[in-house]
Amino acid sequence: MSTWSIVLAAGSGRRYDPDVLKQYEEIGPWRVIDLSLARAGEVSDGVVLVVGADHADDPEPMADLVVVGGVRRSDSVRRGLDAVPADCDIVVVHDGARPLASSELFESVIEAVLAGADAAIPGVPVTDTIKQIDDGCVVGTLDRDDLVAVQTPQAFRAEVLRRAHEGDPDATDDAALVESVGGTVMVVEGEATNLKITTRHDLGVARLHFG
Ligand code: C5P
Repeated sequence: MSTWSIVLAAGSGRRYDPDVLKQYEEIGPWRVIDLSLARAGEVSDGVVLVVGADHADDPEPMADLVVVGGVRRSDSVRRGLDAVPADCDIVVVHDGARPLASSELFESVIEAVLAGADAAIPGVPVTDTIKQIDDGCVVGTLDRDDLVAVQTPQAFRAEVLRRAHEGDPDATDDAALVESVGGTVMVVEGEATNLKITTRHDLGVARLHFG
């Protein structure tokens, strides 16, 4: 069984500082993506790093391949997937902006796919109450006992992930695309510490983690 990981770092991070790419910020001696690449590399036969066009020629010794991403996250995943060898069995997709995911979390989603799921994703309980809104007004309250907040790394049977991406669909994660082609998506226990760097506050928290 061969496993490749795709680490996504081609976003422009509009919710962060417009002049700085959050995935290249530093946490101690590492860049955010170095931590993501290191964890992915520990569990994979190969790692594809997906970057923005401005970073296409950066030396990235922790990646086996570097490709340029697309406009939407799903476009970037497809660019990465095109670079994954055709005979690879399991593909893991990870947001480069989640530097605190542990190698145990990578192993846990991979094991769930090895055990038979088409896809496995980490989920954590939702602690806030979630409301549906329309035009600034509440139209419903969801039962949070039925909800999980979903993270990456997400692991997939490679053939299912490739099928889910046919026709260039868009979604905020790859599991949603697998759901839409009828695949089984299993939820494993996520990590509360596995935050996605979105704001400067998140970067500060991630730095404290290594404090
Ligand atoms: O935008 P969001 O925070 O959901 O992005 C999640 C991850 O996907 C980030 O690591 C970002 O760099 C990556 N991404 C990408 N290509 C895009 C958009 C996002 O690689 N076009």
